[in-house]
Amino acid sequence: MNDVWQACPVCLGRGHVPAGFYGVAVGTNPETCRTCDGATVIVRPTLPAPRAPMRFYVVRTSARSGDDSPCEGAVRVSVPRWDTTWPVDSLLPLTRRIEDKPGWEIELATLDDLLALERLHGEIMLTSSPYQSEPRVGRLQIEIYDDYRE
Ligand SMILES: [Zn+2]
Repeated sequence: MNDVWQACPVCLGRGHVPAGFYGVAVGTNPETCRTCDGATVIVRPTLPAPRAPMRFYVVRTSARSGDDSPCEGAVRVSVPRWDTTWPVDSLLPLTRRIEDKPGWEIELATLDDLLALERLHGEIMLTSSPYQSEPRVGRLQIEIYDDYRE
């Protein structure tokens, strides 16, 4: 963590405040700023920026139907699906959203949470998309790889 130095916001970087600033005037001379102790600057601690939890689709390889929750903490969601076709007379593929499919989602706050999931359930796979043709703006999918699949 890198500390940030800044001009003292109480004395405005002067190192002193007017006589009587703290309630009791001791003469008429400016008093030493108690915030920066006369140093004119303070260290502003930098806090890590709050991070939004990461959401992943989550599936379990052995759960063929996908009806049962793949793991603790998973919530039922609608998973958007995409279909890509290549029109005969087009140079570009046509990707369109098709009917959503019920799925599961899990929210993880940190990489440690992801590693804990792996320790709890065994091998996991992290893939870029549950559907190959989904535009790459979609969220990642965690697959709890507890069974054989090709
Ligand atoms: Zn000060």
